[in-house]
Amino acid sequence: MIHASAHLPQTILDTISDSNIVAKVICEGCDEPVTVRRVVMPFGPDKGKSLEMKYGCRCEDKAIESQVLERRKELKKLREKERLFEVFDQNSLINSDLREAVFGTYHPTNRARKGGK
Ligand SMILES: [Zn+2]
Repeated sequence: MIHASAHLPQTILDTISDSNIVAKVICEGCDEPVTVRRVVMPFGPDKGKSLEMKYGCRCEDKAIESQVLERRKELKKLREKERLFEVFDQNSLINSDLREAVFGTYHPTNRARKGGK
């Protein structure tokens, strides 16, 4: 079996090798065990720069997670608002139906009255 890592360029291998580990800590943000590595960025806007990268940190995941939860709450509120408007619309439709029904029943009596004159 050939490991995929055998085909990766050295710069990428450096980002996952154990030789560049700076620290192993528990992240204060997410309580996950985090390995800090000094890595020369193989690509991206910081290409060629030596940076300390956190591996295993889930802070961003948790941030996204809370954003998703926040968005879900907003959507739920929006849906509740929409439902309220729908109920309001239905009520006003019913009201106009009632109004028409009132006018509808009013006209014949008016005509009947006119006819009676
Ligand atoms: Zn974290």
